[in-house]
Amino acid sequence: MSRMTEHITEHWLDNAPFSGGSPRTADVTDPATGAVSGKVRLASDADARAVIASAKRAVPGWASTSLAKRAKVLFRFRDLLDERKEELAAIITAEHGKVLDDAVGEVSRGLEVVEFACGIPHLVKGEFSEQVSTGVDTHSKRQPLGVVAVISPFNFPAMVPMWFFPIAIATGNTVVLKPSEKDPGASLWIARLWQEAGLPDGVFNVLQGDKEAVDALLDSPDVQSVSFVGSTPIARYVNERASAAGKRVQSLGGAKNHMVVLPDADLGLVADAAVNAAFGSAGERCMAVSVLVAVGPIADDVIAGIVERVGTLRVGDGTLGCDMGPLVTREHRDKVSAYVDAGVAAGAKLVIDGRDLRVADRPDGFWLGPTLFDQVTTDMTVYTDEIFGPVLGVLRVGTYEEAISLVNANQYGNGAVLFTRDGGAARRFEFEVHAGMIGINVPVPVPTAYYSFGGWKSSLFGDTHAHGMEGVRFFTRAKVVTSRWPDPATNPSTGLALAFP
Ligand code: NAD
Repeated sequence: MSRMTEHITEHWLDNAPFSGGSPRTADVTDPATGAVSGKVRLASDADARAVIASAKRAVPGWASTSLAKRAKVLFRFRDLLDERKEELAAIITAEHGKVLDDAVGEVSRGLEVVEFACGIPHLVKGEFSEQVSTGVDTHSKRQPLGVVAVISPFNFPAMVPMWFFPIAIATGNTVVLKPSEKDPGASLWIARLWQEAGLPDGVFNVLQGDKEAVDALLDSPDVQSVSFVGSTPIARYVNERASAAGKRVQSLGGAKNHMVVLPDADLGLVADAAVNAAFGSAGERCMAVSVLVAVGPIADDVIAGIVERVGTLRVGDGTLGCDMGPLVTREHRDKVSAYVDAGVAAGAKLVIDGRDLRVADRPDGFWLGPTLFDQVTTDMTVYTDEIFGPVLGVLRVGTYEEAISLVNANQYGNGAVLFTRDGGAARRFEFEVHAGMIGINVPVPVPTAYYSFGGWKSSLFGDTHAHGMEGVRFFTRAKVVTSRWPDPATNPSTGLALAFP
């Protein structure tokens, strides 16, 4: 059963769809029905070169467009996106599977970055120092890089690209977006919106594809920077290959986010937060909580609270008002299911088993219900690996010290959250924990657009986080100008002076 007429999602070049010359395509599926709903182009190296060339042609014109004109296009894009965000959300749900209100939430978080970028005239102001030496002034400025690449994962087909391209465009760069081939529809909808907002040809381009498209971007001498988000092995690879080619890189990887619960925490709040953060978007969020570390004698109560709440969740087609949708593809569902098998085999206690979930009228959807393990230990793959599905593991420890050393020993460091009523413990956690985004009684601490998003350790390679002022700096290069204007009233000659000034 398909809810969309079969169609091909194309590349986007010079403000128009572009088919390219590659014969390769991939299927796009509706995860709720399991049906193939369309196809997406998979670019060849030559297709990539054509798209990059379009972006390159647009650089001089866009980089020299006034800040006022650039901001005007951004404001128009912002208004159109806000008016039509339900359209984009529907595309996301149809290809990704997340429930509609979650998809609207994703677009709204992306919109925040567009709003931040609307303030670009203020954000790129330079500094000026008068009279740094007699008759000499110094000022700094930031200029665009040129063509920048954005390579995004399947789990946020609108928000993750929007972490980058609004700021890249606002700062005068031109963009080639390479979306995930699993849910490419959002990218073309966004491209059309930019066109409607008045963005000139070649400033925002889309290259559909897989590894071949990514490698073409990483190797192209015309691409100045790469902003990547995806799994850790690919993030590491992208960082190494693009850095070796001399590019600026920010490369965000996977996660295993811990929620530490101290004995004094409000356990009702904890159970709500754990369910929302572990099972929202079927656990396919890089800021999902996948490990709950119960400190002291509270684990049984926390687990009882989670079980009670999961019993009220409706899992089903994201267009039908459910709480949780399917997983993105059949392969991914099977991979998550295999992790659950491995957890059982390793001796973890399966408290809620989502493997047998059946959804009426949608027998072929990629279903796996909320799954809860107790008695997880750090040697089990359900703990060591990022599962990226609706699977929450509970670890029991005796003290805060044990909890913090467990979090800090983990290879990932995207988010880490603490639930407590103790301000001193919270302050200590903020200070000691090795992660980039910290929540105190907040389960999914995604920073707002004017702060920056990024993790530590294997959750981020390169050194700049996404959006906020780090984003503005990433997409611009600094210049410092030292100038002297001879004063006609005085003798302008400085004479000869060969020593270092
Ligand atoms: P992925 O790594 O499979 O794919 C990400 C991108 O890389 C896609 O565009 C894909 O086409 C491309 N790609 C895949 N294999 C490649 C290869 N061998 N060579 C070159 N390019 C390749 O990730 P995904 O499954 O789409 O997304 C889920 C992952 O993204 C999870 O690990 C999640 O934690 C991570 N993620 C991280 C953040 C963050 O902010 N740290 C945010 C969202 C998602």
